[in-house]
Amino acid sequence: MIRSETPTYRFAPSPTGYLHLGHAYSALFSWQKTLTESARFLLRIEDIDTTRCRKIFEQALYEDLSWLGLEWEQPVRRQSEHLPEYQSALDKLTQRGLIYPCFCTRKDIAEEIGQSGNAPHGPDGVIYPGICKHLTRSEQKDRQDSGASYALRLHMDRALAQSGTLYWEDLAAGEIRATPEIFGDVVLARKDIATSYHLSVTLDDALQGITCVTRGMDLFHATHIHRLLQALFDLPVPRWHHHELVRDDQGIRLAKRHNALAIRSLREEGKTPEDILNMIGL
Ligand code: GLU
Repeated sequence: MIRSETPTYRFAPSPTGYLHLGHAYSALFSWQKTLTESARFLLRIEDIDTTRCRKIFEQALYEDLSWLGLEWEQPVRRQSEHLPEYQSALDKLTQRGLIYPCFCTRKDIAEEIGQSGNAPHGPDGVIYPGICKHLTRSEQKDRQDSGASYALRLHMDRALAQSGTLYWEDLAAGEIRATPEIFGDVVLARKDIATSYHLSVTLDDALQGITCVTRGMDLFHATHIHRLLQALFDLPVPRWHHHELVRDDQGIRLAKRHNALAIRSLREEGKTPEDILNMIGL
C-alpha cells in the first residue's frame, strides 16, 4: 500500500458515454493541481459495469483528455483487470462476518416494503429491509448451492460497531461526521459483477496513494460509505473535494441531459481547449 506524501489527484471516469463538460471540470480541476502543487495526476478507468462500459468510449476519453492538454501517468489502472483483488477484499469481510449474501430481487424488496408499510429512504432510494439478513448459514448455503444469484451486502450495524465514530474532511464543507448508516446494508458486490463502485473506488484510491479525491457533488454522500470501508480495511484516509455540477443554460445537470455537451462535439464545432476552460469557469 502506497502511503503517499506527494499530493496525488485522480480522474476516474466510467466509459459509458462521451466525456462532457462536467467530466472536463473534474479532470481539469485535478490536472491543474499538478501545476500549482507539483502533484501527481492519475487516470483510472472505472469499467466494472460491463453492461454499460464500452471500449469505444474509453478510447474516446483518452483522445478528448489529450486534446484538452492533460497528461497522466502510465499504466492506466483499468478496474476490470483487477477483479480478483476486489474478491479477496470481500473474502476478508466474509471471514469477519461483515457481509451477507442477499438473494432478493427488486420485486421481493418492493413486496416486503408494501407489506410492512414502512419505507425509510436513504440517498440511493429505499433502504434494504433486511430480508436476507437473518438467513442461517445453512439456508444461505442451500440457496447458493442451488445456483441462485446473490449480491453481498454490508452488515451495517456490525461494521459500525467495529469502526466507531468516523470523520472525514471535505475541502469546502470542512470536517464531516460519517453517517454511512443512512444507506442501510449497502451492496458491496452486485449480482452481476461481483464488486461495486463503493468497494472498487475505495480500494483503488488507497492502492494508488490518492491524497485528495475530486469528484462531483452527486457523490458527496457516497463518501460516508467509503470512509467506513477505509476504517474496516485499515486504509489511509485522503481528503475530498466535491465540486458543484456543471449545468446547462437551463440549469439542468449535464450528466442528466440526454445529449450532454460532449467535448468531442464542441471540438468538431471548432471550439478550442481554452474555450472549454472558459465554459466551465476554470
Ligand atoms: N466513476 C465514477 C463516475 O464516472 C466517478 C467515481 C469517483 O470519482 O469517485 O461517475
